[in-house]
Amino acid sequence: MSTNQHTVLIAGAGPAGLSAALHLADCGVHTVIVDRKNRPGGNAADFTCKASPECVRCGACMVADRAARIRQLTAVDWLVPAEITGCEQNGRFQVHIRKDGAETDMKADAVILATGFTPFDPTQKPYGYQKGSTGNVITHLELEAMLHGQGKVRRPSDGATPETIAFIQCVGSRDLALGRPWCSCVCCGSALRMARRIQHETPSVKATFFYIDVQSFSRNFDAVYADFKSRIRMIRAIPGDVVKTPDDKLRVGYFDPTSRTFTEEIFDLTVLTVGMGPNPDTPELARVFGVSLDRFGFLGTARNGVFVAGSAIQPMGISDSIASGAEAAQSALEYLAGLMR
Ligand SMILES: Cc1cc2nc3c(=O)[nH]c(=O)nc-3n(C[C@H](O)[C@H](O)[C@H](O)COP(=O)(O)OP(=O)(O)OC[C@H]3O[C@@H](n4cnc5c(N)ncnc54)[C@H](O)[C@@H]3O)c2cc1C
Ligand code: SF4
Ligand code: SF4
Repeated sequence: MSTNQHTVLIAGAGPAGLSAALHLADCGVHTVIVDRKNRPGGNAADFTCKASPECVRCGACMVADRAARIRQLTAVDWLVPAEITGCEQNGRFQVHIRKDGAETDMKADAVILATGFTPFDPTQKPYGYQKGSTGNVITHLELEAMLHGQGKVRRPSDGATPETIAFIQCVGSRDLALGRPWCSCVCCGSALRMARRIQHETPSVKATFFYIDVQSFSRNFDAVYADFKSRIRMIRAIPGDVVKTPDDKLRVGYFDPTSRTFTEEIFDLTVLTVGMGPNPDTPELARVFGVSLDRFGFLGTARNGVFVAGSAIQPMGISDSIASGAEAAQSALEYLAGLMR
């Protein structure tokens, strides 16, 4: 199958988009990647290795590996930071792109939308989170970036190593009141692996995990879960609020399922495990490319010549996003081959 006279536009350079581009490059197809940001990796670009000390298959290195490989390829062109503003289809796709304030057009034979998810903004919850502040309530993604950059967990307010950390799960997931009933699938496993990594490096850290139930799937889940439970304090409750105390600690209030009483506890650091929601650009991209949306606003069915991939479709982890990107690339190859018949 010779499709090397074709060009595929890939929107999004996260794990799904990178995977699609690598697959197409392996098959000799020219791709152009458009991303709002000017670095590859998407939401997973700053994820840290969670080995403790053995590999726990968190997927972070799969992103770094693909980001490094893609930079070597001449068959992949980059339009970053840039955004798609429109598209017409008259045989080929004529895509309008805004880069550095200027409008430009490019022609493509197929399009892959891999524009990913948006992390939930936890300022909507009563947990005292303030984006960009030096407060000691941070998101899981900020903790990932902290460990990736500095190698150690620190309290943002004073740089001290926390002695106690509360992980609050399902922040912006499985929340009917917010109209976000879905489970984000990967964040239980991610937070538990993160807590284990921190304890491995700093055994004095006491981690408490507030959760609804643990969603994590693997063949040896029972053994892994038993290990987590022996090291991490697990409380089956979601706190009502988090309040800063006068001595710069955090008071976490929750209904204790064991004593059946309202309980308050003090922590040095609170990590909010924010859920995965639809990217706000999705409705406009869906309109421009004629793709449907599901009832929550994730991308729905692909149509002739336009393919969808990764967490833009539904919450999924890195390895599933990579597989989804390769699958979309394969569908695009079959579509391009059909154009030549
Ligand atoms: C709290 C949390 C913890 C997680 N932990 C793990 C974990 O431990 N292991 C794991 O496997 N997964 C984990 N994940 C999930 C992981 O982040 C995703 O699987 C992965 O990032 C999805 O890749 P993607 O390519 O689909 O999307 P993204 O990573 O979201 O990338 C999308 C890309 O598209 C770009 N984009 C968006 N809109 C546009 C537009 N209009 N035009 C151009 N470009 C655009 C973005 O800038 C971005 O670069 C976690 C997620 C969360 C929220
Ligand atoms: S980044 Fe994750 S998958 Fe890679 S070696 Fe570390 S623990 Fe294993
Ligand atoms: S994976 Fe766990 S933390 Fe994430 S939404 Fe589902 S139940 Fe909540």
